[in-house]
Amino acid sequence: MSRDIDSKIAEKFKNSNRFLIVSHVRPDADAAGSVLGLGLALEKAGKTVQMVLKDDAQRFGYLPGSDQILSAPTGAFDMVIVVDCSDPDRVGGALSGYDIIDLVVDHHKTNLQFGDTNIVESDQVATAAILFDHMPDWGLSFDPEVAVNLLSGIVGDTIGFRTPNVNADVMRKAGALINLGADLAHIYREELVMKSFKAVRYWGAGLSRMEQDDGLVWASLTLADRRKIGYPGNDDADLVNVLSSVKEAKIALIFIEQPQNMVKVSWRARPGMDVSGIAFEFGGGGHAAAAGADIEGTLEDVMEDVTLETKKLLENQF
Ligand code: AMP
Ligand code: MN
Ligand code: MN
Repeated sequence: MSRDIDSKIAEKFKNSNRFLIVSHVRPDADAAGSVLGLGLALEKAGKTVQMVLKDDAQRFGYLPGSDQILSAPTGAFDMVIVVDCSDPDRVGGALSGYDIIDLVVDHHKTNLQFGDTNIVESDQVATAAILFDHMPDWGLSFDPEVAVNLLSGIVGDTIGFRTPNVNADVMRKAGALINLGADLAHIYREELVMKSFKAVRYWGAGLSRMEQDDGLVWASLTLADRRKIGYPGNDDADLVNVLSSVKEAKIALIFIEQPQNMVKVSWRARPGMDVSGIAFEFGGGGHAAAAGADIEGTLEDVMEDVTLETKKLLENQF
C-alpha cells in the first residue's frame, strides 16, 4: 500500500467529473458491491457515474443503487475504473471504445495489471475490502448505502466468512461496516440463503448429473436446462458451493454451457490446494481456493479435458 499512489488517485478523483465503473461478466456480490460501493460514494461526492455490469444483475436488487446499474456505457468519461476483474477481456465488451483504463482495483493474484494505476492486493478477501481501506484516502466517505454494498462484497467472496483467508482484520472491517449502518443478517440472507424457485430447480438439473472420482466432484449445467427452467442468468446460481460442500470433494468443478461453443468452468478447492494455476492455464484466473475460466469447445470436450487435467493436479498436490 503506497500513500503516494493513494494521493495521486485522490487528485485524479478531484479533477474528474464523469466516471465509468465496470466489473466482470456474470457478476458476483463482490463485483456488484464494489461497483456500487465506489459508484455511490463518488456520486455523493458530486460526480456523474455510470455503473456497468454486463449480464443479469437482477439478484442484486437488494443492494442500494442497483436500479442504476447499466448493461453498457454511453458517452465519454474522465476516468474509467475496473473493479474485481483480473483481465480486461472479462468485462464482456463493456470497455470497447475506451482505450485507457485509469484505475484497476482488484484482489485476484492472476491480475494482469492492465490499468494506468493498479491497486491489486491479492491477500485481501474481496475487492470491497480493498475499497474499504482506500476510499478515505481517495477523499471518499462512507454512508449506510455504501456500507451495505461493501459488506455484501465481503460476505459474498468469503461465502459468509467461511473461507480460510478470513481473519480478525476482516471481521474488524465487517464490524466497522455494520457500525456504519449495514445490516449483516439481511445481507447474509439475501446473498447466501435465499434462492429463487427457478435457481433451485436449475440446481436440481445440475445435481442430477453430479459425479465423483477420487476426490473430484463435478456437475454440468446446460443451455437446455436454462431454457426448460426459465433460469434468467448464464451462471451456476452458486451450485458450485453446494458441490464443494460434498465431503468427498477435494476439488469441486462445475461446467456451465454457454452460447457460441463456450463453457464456463469453476474450480473450488479445499484449503491448502491451489487451483488458480490450472484456471490460468485454461485462459482464466482467480484465487487458490476459487478460480474459473471461459473455455472454447463443446460441453463434452471441455469436461473431458478439464477433468483429466484437474485429476492430474489432484494426484500431484495430495
Ligand atoms: P467463479 O468460478 O466464476 O465463481 O470465479 C471464481 C474466481 O475466479 C473469482 O475470483 C473470479 O473472479 C475468477 N474467475 C472466474 N472466471 C474467470 C475467468 N474467465 N478469467 C479470470 N478469472 C476468472
Ligand atoms: Mn468477483
Ligand atoms: Mn472478488
